[in-house]
Amino acid sequence: MDKLQSGKELIFRVAIAIPVYRLFDYLAPEQFELVNIKPGIRLEVPFGNTNKIAFLVECVQHSDLDIGKLKRINRILDEHPLLSSKDLTLLHWASRYYHHPLGEVFSAAFPVALRQGKAAIIQTQKRYALTMAGRVLESELLKRTPKQKSVLEKFQAHSHSLSEAELSAWNQSWRTSVKQLLDKSVLELADAVSESSYILGGAIDFCSIIKTNTLQCNPQQQSAIVAVTASLEQFGVFLLEGVTGSGKTEVYMQIIRTVLERGLQVLVLLPEITLTPQLEERFRQRFNVSIAISHSKLTDRQRAVAWLSMQRNECSILLGTRSALFTPIPNLGLIILDEEHDSSFKQQEGFRFSARDVAVVRGKLLKIPVLLGSATPALESLHNVDNKRYRLLHLPERAGNAIEPILQLLDIRNKKIQEGLSEWLIADIRRTLEKNEQVLLFLNRRGFAPTLICHSCGWVARCGSCDANLVIHYDEGLLRCHHCGQEQRLIKQCFACKTGELTALGLGTERVEKVLAELFADKVIVRLDRDSTQRKGSLEKFLKQINQGEVDIILGTQMLAKGHHFPNVTLVAILDVDSGLFSIDFHAPEKLAQMIVQVSGRAGRAEKPGRVIMQTRQPDHPLLTTLISKGYDSFAKTALIERKEACLPPFSYQALLRVQAAEAEMAKLFLDSVVQLAEKHNKEHVQILGPVAAPMARRAGLFRYQLLFQGNRRPELHVLLDKLMPEIEKLKRAKKVRWSLDVDPVDLY
Ligand code: ADP
Ligand code: ZN
Ligand code: ZN
Repeated sequence: MDKLQSGKELIFRVAIAIPVYRLFDYLAPEQFELVNIKPGIRLEVPFGNTNKIAFLVECVQHSDLDIGKLKRINRILDEHPLLSSKDLTLLHWASRYYHHPLGEVFSAAFPVALRQGKAAIIQTQKRYALTMAGRVLESELLKRTPKQKSVLEKFQAHSHSLSEAELSAWNQSWRTSVKQLLDKSVLELADAVSESSYILGGAIDFCSIIKTNTLQCNPQQQSAIVAVTASLEQFGVFLLEGVTGSGKTEVYMQIIRTVLERGLQVLVLLPEITLTPQLEERFRQRFNVSIAISHSKLTDRQRAVAWLSMQRNECSILLGTRSALFTPIPNLGLIILDEEHDSSFKQQEGFRFSARDVAVVRGKLLKIPVLLGSATPALESLHNVDNKRYRLLHLPERAGNAIEPILQLLDIRNKKIQEGLSEWLIADIRRTLEKNEQVLLFLNRRGFAPTLICHSCGWVARCGSCDANLVIHYDEGLLRCHHCGQEQRLIKQCFACKTGELTALGLGTERVEKVLAELFADKVIVRLDRDSTQRKGSLEKFLKQINQGEVDIILGTQMLAKGHHFPNVTLVAILDVDSGLFSIDFHAPEKLAQMIVQVSGRAGRAEKPGRVIMQTRQPDHPLLTTLISKGYDSFAKTALIERKEACLPPFSYQALLRVQAAEAEMAKLFLDSVVQLAEKHNKEHVQILGPVAAPMARRAGLFRYQLLFQGNRRPELHVLLDKLMPEIEKLKRAKKVRWSLDVDPVDLY
């Protein structure tokens, strides 16, 4: 049937992943079954001279365009929509709230393979299981074939079948032994469908959800677990605040267990790819269910499989980074966001959404709890606790026997300093190493030094395309721009005066590594930053070395601040805490305090107490003194009062319009036009601040300007943006620039 009863042609209104706000109308395809036409299905449509993937938004009987000019849908890609109606509601909401084109929002919800129109199928993997005979076979009987014996033991340790992928993850060379065991009728092929019904079908064997015993929880952990599990089938946001090592992960796992026992699925979001293997390992040790992983380092196919297996309810837990948020999960019972304060949860390009905020909306739509965890909650989240939107669960102490680290400021004014290390600190490092304990040094700047300057004429090596200095990368013999990636050879002589001697100013991790190597020649030093871990697998290799106690000194950037466990580290030093104190962005103090507490959390996690030393020339700075004497919560209270007095978020609501253009004038003129439009619509006293040049006025050859909208109430800001955005798109000047809107920006750069 291709016509409706009225005889009128049916119009498909679709969203296409291109940066325009409008939807597109197409004629129905030549042939289709009307019952299968549901919002969310993927379609292939002719667009310009090519074909594009589109998402059906609705079917209508009338188009504003001339029907004769409409093109016809090429083909329908999905028999059933892959997204549920609640998923679609969430995407529509996100598109409206972030004022981002619906097609791009839809596209972000799908893994790349499906975005490109690939079929929504999982190439099935074979699964193997023990036969009746295999289940009772004594493994000792296979002792002359040790490989077969270990395969048998592997299967006997699991109560369910194992897939090819699970076997490969366990041991690369499993195939021969498995084949031999099949021949002996110890193993048989199991069918994949029965496997998923085993996990999620009605009859669940409660003993089999978990493998290892759970820990005996302390009373605070217990009350956090009770609070969440008592309200599992209703919406609520819980903020689990606990210092590093206070047992948050244990709390997550015990709550997850209850959710799994009810036959529901769980979504766990982490800020960083590097943290997924650790958590994955803990989950796999604990849970007997299928776990899917999704992050940007996986192949398109792997991500599509993870997505589809959640969508089909074949996996129970999805562990992923922010892009996993939109994965369709039909039986979702709980969302957990670990390290909720982390700014990686905010997507900083394209569709700029906050995974935390959207997760809360998703929880509300689905009427399920959302659990946010952090040692250093975001000020917004604490504010949401104050106004009773979130419920605070507190774990004030470290779990087990671990003691909290002691924080100290080290006043380095007028002290002798060797490449960023004061004599006092060097002595302290030496004493710690003598006790066979590990030292961790934190410096948030990679490269050798941030500035190359001429000693005789003052010339500075600058990037030709950005308002930025080139950073010296000594080992590679390069000068590199950290903003646009441009590189040039490290020069020996001044470019300007041709004779002057060039000096490296400032400190980077590479430079500190060199001085450490001289000072502690017989010690093993590992540097962890984006440069040293570029090769695949190198970070994992370093982490393993550190955890096996083969490393004496760990030196690194913010990579170290996140979640890693270094049980033998007893001394942590933050080499240059002052560089964080003077940013022009109002978010900076919050980020600095979080960084200090997070880095401190790496110290003394096991039985040995840890110390944290911060080298500073600002020993009386209130941020530092409050943090040290009264802790993060006091800092946060003070910071929230300051935000309130200054009418800054979370006491007001912001959206930042950024623009880039080949000529500064074009960028500015465009924003001038936007201001004119905005003033016309602005009935509600939203402040319109700018246009001003961006803090980095030129990057990668483009000039950058910005305009900030700030409202005292969220709705008034959005009412204005609702009217404004479609008109901005139509501005003639918009064609000559690149612009983007960032709702609830986490930095103003
Ligand atoms: P967090 O996620 O807050 O950093 P973890 O859950 O990783 O904390 O716990 C830190 C360490 O303490 C882990 O080694 C964990 O096994 C242990 N731990 C957690 N809860 C308990 C408990 N109730 N009793 C003993 N050890 C615990
Ligand atoms: Zn010079
Ligand atoms: Zn540059």
